[in-house]
Amino acid sequence: MVRDLGLPIEKIHACKNGCMLYWKDDIDMEYCKFCGDPTYKPTRDRNPLRKKFLYAILRYFSLTPRLQRLYGSPTTAEHMILHANHVMGKGSICHPFDAEVWRHFDRTHPNFALEPRNVRLGLCRDGFAPTGSMKRKISGWVKCLRFPNGYVSNLARCVNMTELRLHGMKSHVCHIFMQKLIPIAFRDMVPEHVWSALMEVSLLFQILCFTTLDVRKVQELEDSVAVIMCNLEKVFHPAFFYSMEHLNLHLSNEDRLGDPVQYRWMYPFERFLRELKKKVKNKIHVEASIIEAYIVEKN
Ligand SMILES: [Zn+2]
Repeated sequence: MVRDLGLPIEKIHACKNGCMLYWKDDIDMEYCKFCGDPTYKPTRDRNPLRKKFLYAILRYFSLTPRLQRLYGSPTTAEHMILHANHVMGKGSICHPFDAEVWRHFDRTHPNFALEPRNVRLGLCRDGFAPTGSMKRKISGWVKCLRFPNGYVSNLARCVNMTELRLHGMKSHVCHIFMQKLIPIAFRDMVPEHVWSALMEVSLLFQILCFTTLDVRKVQELEDSVAVIMCNLEKVFHPAFFYSMEHLNLHLSNEDRLGDPVQYRWMYPFERFLRELKKKVKNKIHVEASIIEAYIVEKN
């Protein structure tokens, strides 16, 4: 009953291998047109009126009613058009509106840009294992580190003193480690030239993550990032470098084109996915269980 009062979810039949949706013209198909697998689970019951069971269902959260609801409340409606009243700081970026990508979009689609209530959507791509669990041995010096509440998850869980390795660090913990801990942790442990190479990488991430970006500083960083990476290459074995290290070369450029990272990074979505994980009640139908709980909460 609660579900019927709230925002709609559309259930669309899907191929169990993820090839296609049984939608529009394909709605009555009984076999996947790509892999040939059946839509319905086999049954011995020959009664045609009997309910058939599907292998896979995609639950689609229709976007339009959700956007309408955001404009339905004066508080959220105000947030939705915040960019229209934003004053751009000279030479600095503190809102996605200031960044090159937003302005490029406005130049390309002037009619769309004229109406402040029009919504620009970003795409967040992440996967998660809804039933996964994490149990790690707890030991080591990292246990002694204390951070403000909510700043970082318990780092001590990631230390394995037997193997002397850091395990299972979530991306946010890696971020804190690189940005805040590397300069302190290795200060007296490694030779000066190794420490300064590490320090430069740490500083790179600190500058990239400022809430207000100085365009001139980011441009300087873009010019010097190759040198920073070369200094690292002088210290570490070539096997250490693969595509992830190479990505550092593009981060400052991306920062300048996009906006301050806090509007684009994955952490809010990762936390949200964790909350979703906690909602699993029925372990046979994990996704359905999460969606039902989520919809009830939202309504
Ligand atoms: Zn298929």
